Formats: sequence, structure tokens, C-alpha cells
Amino acid sequence: MADQFDVVVIGAGPAGYVAAIRAAQLGLKTACVDAFIGKEGKPALGGTCLNVGCIPSKALLDSSRQFFNLTHSFKDHGISAANPAIDVKTMVGRKDKIVKQFTGGIAMLFKGSKVTPYFGKAMLKPGRTVSVKGHDGASVDIAATNVILAPGSTSIELPFAKFDGKFIVDNAGALDFDAVPKRLGVIGAGVIGLELGSVWRRLGAEVTILEALPDFLGTADRDVAKIAAREFVKQGLDIKLGAKVSAAKVVGNAVEVTYADTKGEAKIVVDKLLVAVGRRAATQGVLADGTGVKLDERGRIVVDEHCWTGVEGVWAVGDCVRGPMLAHKGSEEGVAVAELIAGKAGHVNYDTIPWVIYTEPEIAWAGKTEEELKKDNVPYKSGSFPFAAIGRAVAMNETAGQVKILAHAETDRILGVHMVGPSVSELIAEAVVAMEFHGAAEDLARIVHAHPTLSEAVHEAALAVDKRAIHKAN
Ligand code: NAD
Repeated sequence: MADQFDVVVIGAGPAGYVAAIRAAQLGLKTACVDAFIGKEGKPALGGTCLNVGCIPSKALLDSSRQFFNLTHSFKDHGISAANPAIDVKTMVGRKDKIVKQFTGGIAMLFKGSKVTPYFGKAMLKPGRTVSVKGHDGASVDIAATNVILAPGSTSIELPFAKFDGKFIVDNAGALDFDAVPKRLGVIGAGVIGLELGSVWRRLGAEVTILEALPDFLGTADRDVAKIAAREFVKQGLDIKLGAKVSAAKVVGNAVEVTYADTKGEAKIVVDKLLVAVGRRAATQGVLADGTGVKLDERGRIVVDEHCWTGVEGVWAVGDCVRGPMLAHKGSEEGVAVAELIAGKAGHVNYDTIPWVIYTEPEIAWAGKTEEELKKDNVPYKSGSFPFAAIGRAVAMNETAGQVKILAHAETDRILGVHMVGPSVSELIAEAVVAMEFHGAAEDLARIVHAHPTLSEAVHEAALAVDKRAIHKAN
């Protein structure tokens, strides 16, 4: 007889493992199946985020930031060091240790909350049976009252620039270079391109980023994108916009990349090429014929606002469904679905999901941009405040950037908050709380913010919405 569970989750990334833990907390007999094999050749829970995404990239961003500060910024503080050097093997080893700590941590959490892990490739069959093909080739069937599909996403490959793991790589490959490439090419000036481009630039690589679209960071606030672009250029990132890549060929120990922009066709030669042109839902091989679960034109699982697929007892969460591919969005969907299964009122507010790009300066936003508000004919007022006028930012020598708050012209309700600057990945949380509570700019303006802190930029921007910022002309 097949093993029987109340809930079987397919995928142990931030959407799936969180769904499994929450379901188990609610007293449901839960299993979670995952196929990922980590760097050591063993199953590793945590999906892309923990193994080759959020966590390892932050480890390298932090290492490279320390090195950059040592070689560039510390002299302003009167600190000098003779012959600073980067040992890439140690840096990558530290990253691997952090990954191992966190993937192992999920195994412990599963044990603690009594989630049964299965290791192998899962496929949903009709009638809510999940068949798991283990890494040893043996198959086992699990019967489930509810199935939560959370298979995540995979890097999109360009037909003319296939990943070879050595010269042409995806995000995983760019986390594991064994030395700083002299020349790094990046296709795509999106989140991954900018974050990993920054890592290797800070360590000394010449980085050229080729972006097909004419606008930089098209989904971000225009002022934020402008400030960020200016800072990235200062750091030496060579970002070419409107650059359509047509070929990438490995020649000897280098890659020749051909692209065309308004100036005509051009070529760059690089030692490594990172392709970061987006990700697609990893739904291939997850659904057997006849399950009734539908895919959209981009291969994503079709769900309603409650992450229900329309098939009794089958749900889908995270990168494999509509909405932004963000770990925290997937986790919240996982929690909501587990709670709905347990008869509770699970819910995700898609209007207040924060976005963060961990470059230097950091970029973070929540809610609507001015362009979106204009398109929807929503009357709004705007207040912004630069970090250059914030005492703490000046003391830290990190003055680039600003906070901008958009509020409804009549009700003053906060509609969007857009930040670029130091630690804005943390500062955005205050904006999300205010928006979640339907707060007004006046609410933020009346709240006492500690001095001297970076959070004063949020306070002053809220005051600026009403043209009464204290430390700048309104
Ligand atoms: P992305 O969608 O952020 O950016 C891809 C970029 O590539 C876009 O600007 C696009 O215009 C460009 N592009 C597409 N095809 C191209 C081509 N042929 N030539 C040149 N440019 C081209 O995708 P990503 O950076 O690959 O990241 C994938 C996903 O992972 C995203 O959904 C992202 O949100 C998520 N992610 C999030 C974080 C974070 O939250 N900090 C970090 C990493 C990844």
C-alpha cells in the first residue's frame, strides 16, 4: 500500500518547505519531496534560494563588499592595508559553508516539525498520487489528500548561448568561479545580472552587461533607476542598453559575444559569460497526463487568488505560478495554502510585496510606481529625501540615494515607497508595515524615528509629501 499523507508538497524551496512546516504545525501529516542535489553530490533541501540563489549570492555580495571597501572606501576613514588580496577559494568555501548550514537547517526543521522528507523527482498523477523516483532509480507512490506543487523555476537558456558550465554559465555557475575572471560578460541587466555582476566587478573583473531593453530597470521607479545607473557606472559596471545579443561563441579560452544596438553590430570578448535573462517555471515532468492541472502559455501552473489549481486538493505556490519570482512571495503563499487546507483563513496581500536588489546602493520598493499611478489615473503626491542630508549616512560615507513616498492626493494613503541607498533592504519593512495597515504619509511623518539613523530618510520623505521636510528645502 502507498504511504498516505494529508499533505504532500512537491519542492523544498522557500515556497515548498515553508508550506510543509506550516502544514505540519497545523497537525496535518505532511511529506515534502525534493530532487535537488547539492555541491557535495548529496540531496540538499532549500531549492534555488538556499543552494544557488538568495543565500549564496548574499554571501558573495558581502565578501566582495568587504574587499571593495578595503581597496576603495577605507582610505576615507584613514584606514590602510598593505597589499590587499582576495582568495577566491576561501570566499567560495565560506559561501558553501553557509549554504550547507542552511540546507542542513531545513532537514533539522523537518525533523522537529515531523515533516517526512522524500528525496527524488516527484510527479503528480491523477487522483492525487505522487510518484517519487528516487536518486537510486527506485520509485515509490505516495497518496495525498492535498498536494502543494512548489517545483520552483530554472534559468532561461538562450539558444545561441547554451550553458556549458565553464565559459557560459547561469547564476549557479557565476557563484562558483575559481578565480576572478579578467573580463565578465553578462546578458541581462536584471536582478541576477546586477547582483552577480557587482560581486565580480568589486573583486576586479571588467564587467560588461548587455541589456536588450532600452530602459534600465524598467519595473523600478524612474528616479531610483537613474540614481542606481549613475552609481553603477561610477563603480565601473559597463551597462549597454538596447543591446540585442545574437551570438556567443567559445573561441579558445574566451567567449565572443555579438550584439547590435543603435550604433550597429559590435562584439565583445570575455573570459566568462553569465546569462541572466530571467527564469521559467520548472513544471516540466511534474504533471502526468490527466491530472487536470492547467499550464499557461509560459508554462506556469494556472491558479486562482488562493493558489488553487481548480483540481480538488491540488494547489501551487511560488515561482511556478503567476506573480513575481521572489522567495518571500512563495513562502507567504505556502503558509496561506497550508492554512486554507487546515480550514483557516490563509491570505497573501500581493499589493505590498517588497522588492529588493542587493547591489550597492541597495534598491527596494513596495507598491505602485509613478508610471503605474499615472496609467491608472490615480491622483498622487510625492515626497522624497536624499541620504546625503542624513547624518548617519554621511557618517557611514554612504550618501548615494534617496527615499521617495507616493501618497494619494486626497486621502494621503501611501501607495508606493521607492528607495535606493544604504540598507534600504531593511528600511523597506517600515513602508510595508505602514501600507499593510493602510497607513497615510502623515502616519509615517508623525512617528518618532531614532536619531541618528538611516530611517530618518523615511521620516523626512513622509514629511516632504506634505512639503514640510525639515532638513531640505521643500
Ligand atoms: P530578470 O527578469 O530580473 O532580468 C532579466 C533581464 O534580462 C531583463 O532586464 C530582460 O530585459 C533582459 N533580457 C531578456 N532577454 C534578453 C536578451 N536576449 N538579451 C539581453 N537582455 C535580455 O531576471 P533574472 O535577473 O535572470 O532573475 C530571474 C528571477 O529571479 C527574477 O524573477 C528575479 O526577480 C529573481 N531574483 C530575485 C532576486 C532578489 O529578489 N534580490 C535575486 C535574484 C533573482
